[in-house]
Amino acid sequence: MSDAPAPAPKDFIRELIAADVAAQRNDGWVITRFPPEPNGYLHIGHAKSICLNFGIALENAPKSRCHLRFDDTNPVKEDVEYVNSIQEDVRWLGFDWSQHLYFASDYFEKLYGFALQLIEKGLAYVDDQTLEQVRANRGSLMHPGTPSPFRERPVAENVDLFSRMRAGEFKAGEKILRAKIDMSSPNMNLRDPVIYRILHAHHHRTGDAWCIYPMYDYAHPLSDALEGITHSLCTLEFEHHRPLYEWLINSVDGLPSHPYQREFARLNLTYTVMSKRKLLGLVKAGLVSGWDDPRMPTISGIRRRGYTPHAVRHFCETIGLTKFASLTELALLEHCVREDLNKHSQRVYGVLRPIKVVLTNYPEGQVEQIELVNNPENPTGGTRPVPLSRELYIDADDFMETPVADFHRLVPGGEVRLKYAFCITCDAVIKDAEGRITELRCTYDDATRRGVKPVGRPKVKGTIHWVSAAHAVDVEVRLYDKLFVEAQPEEAAGEEGDFTQFLNPASLEILNAKLEPSVLAASPGAHYQFERVGYFFTDPKDSQPGRPVFNRTVALKDSFAKAK
Ligand code: ATP
Ligand code: MG
Repeated sequence: MSDAPAPAPKDFIRELIAADVAAQRNDGWVITRFPPEPNGYLHIGHAKSICLNFGIALENAPKSRCHLRFDDTNPVKEDVEYVNSIQEDVRWLGFDWSQHLYFASDYFEKLYGFALQLIEKGLAYVDDQTLEQVRANRGSLMHPGTPSPFRERPVAENVDLFSRMRAGEFKAGEKILRAKIDMSSPNMNLRDPVIYRILHAHHHRTGDAWCIYPMYDYAHPLSDALEGITHSLCTLEFEHHRPLYEWLINSVDGLPSHPYQREFARLNLTYTVMSKRKLLGLVKAGLVSGWDDPRMPTISGIRRRGYTPHAVRHFCETIGLTKFASLTELALLEHCVREDLNKHSQRVYGVLRPIKVVLTNYPEGQVEQIELVNNPENPTGGTRPVPLSRELYIDADDFMETPVADFHRLVPGGEVRLKYAFCITCDAVIKDAEGRITELRCTYDDATRRGVKPVGRPKVKGTIHWVSAAHAVDVEVRLYDKLFVEAQPEEAAGEEGDFTQFLNPASLEILNAKLEPSVLAASPGAHYQFERVGYFFTDPKDSQPGRPVFNRTVALKDSFAKAK
C-alpha cells in the first residue's frame, strides 16, 4: 500500500472499474479493447474511445492491458488501407497494444462452432425469409413480431442447412441464421436477430475461405469474451444491444470470460460530421482532397493540419465522460491545440497579404540583423537574427487608408511600431492606375529603437510585424477554416436532406505569403507560430527541402478563452 491516498476516479466508468479492482473481480485484472471496424479512417470521436480504453489500461498497470481488435465482419466495406491507417493513428495518439493485435476474422472458425452450438441447443435456426421479410415481421414497439414459418425447424435440419450455407450451396439472401430468443420482447434486438448471412465476398484477411459472415452484434460480444476482455466500453447506442450480448455470452459454452459492458456518450462536435459513412461520402465526391485533408475531423486530417497527440489527449481528458448525449464546441478542441502549440512552436515573422513599405530615410543597401526570440515560453529557446532593410512587407490587415474607430495600426500620417525594431510614420500611399495600393512610403525614427526610452513624444499604440522584402521567401500558405458553416450540419439538413449543402465555401484559401528566410530550413511536419497571425504546420506530404508548404493549424484568436 502506498502512503498517498489514491486520487478519486475521474468519471463513472473509472469509478466502476476501481470498485471491481477493489473487489478483486477478475483477480483484479482490467482488460479493455478498442474495437474499430476497418471500414474507414478514424476520427476525433474515436480518439475519445481510444484515450478511454488505452488510458484505463495504463492507469491500472500492471494487471491490465488494452487490445486493438478489428471487428472485420463485413468484407464488402472493409479494406487493408483502413487496417493500416487505424494502427498508424492509434500509435500517433501515443498508445501501444504491444502484442495484443487481434481480428474478429481470426475467430471465424470458433464463431461458426458457437453458432452450431446454439443450433444444437435449439437456440438458433436457419430462416428462408429475406431480410426485408424479417424486417417486416419484426413488429413494432406496440406490436409483437410475427414468428418466422421456419422458426420451429428441427435441429438436424438446421445443422444441415447451416453447414450447406457455409459450403456455398446458396446464394446471398437465400438463407440466414437467426438466434431464437423472443419475438415479443420489448427490446427489438432480442426479436430473433440475424446472426449469420451469406456473402460471396472476398475478405481482406480470410480471402475466399468463407461465404457466410457473422453479424457485428454476434461477433462483437463473443470476440470480447474470447479475448478475456473484462470491461467492454462502448457508446450509448449499444445500451439496447447489451441484453443480446449478455444472452449470447450466457448461451455459449466454453468462453474464457464474461465481459462487463458499460456505455458512455459519444463525442459530438460543432461544425463537424463524424460518421465514417458521411466522411467517406465527402472523400468519394471529391469535396475534400482525401481522408487526410486537413479540414477533415479524421485523425489523419488533424495530424496533417498540425494538431498534436498531446492536445488531442488533453482535449479528451477535458471533455470527460457522461451518460447523456451532448455537443462539444469545436472551439474547445482548438483551445487545447493552441495551449499545446503555444508552448512548443518556433516563432517566425510572416506576412500573409503583403503590402510593400519603403523606409525613405533608411540608407539604401543597409541591412541590419534584429535578434528575435524563438519562443518566449521557452527560456532556453534562444534567439535568431532576422534581417531588416529599407524595403519591407507588412500585412494588408495592418494598414487602413480610412481607419475605423479604434484602429491602432498604420494609417496615413500615423505612426506604428515595427515589432522589435522602431516606429515608422506613413507619409504617402502610392497606388496603381486602378487605384490599388502598391506601396506605402514611410519614415523611421531611429530614436524609437528598442531599449531607447522615448522622451516627450506621444505613445505609439500599435505594434505590427514585418519582413524584409529583399530577404523574404515566397511560400504557399493554406488557410484552413471550419469545414461547415452550420454548427450542426446534419441536424440542419434533416433526415432526408443533404448535409453537404452546408460545406463552407471558404474552408480553404491558398495564399502566396512572404516569410522570414529562416523558414527555408523548416523540415516537413514542423510547428510554427507566425507572430500575431496563428499556428502553422509544414505540410508533411507537400513540403520539400527548401520549399515548405504551410497549413494553418489554428488562428491565434481564442474564441473559447474569451468566452470563459
Ligand atoms: P461511425 O459512427 O463514425 O461510423 P462506428 O461506431 O461505426 O463509427 P467503429 O469502428 O465501430 O465506428 O468504432 C470503434 C469504437 O469507437 C466503438 O467502440 C465506438 O463506440 C467508438 N466511437 C465511434 N464514434 C465515436 C464517437 N463519436 N465518440 C466516442 N466513441 C466513438
Ligand atoms: Mg460501429
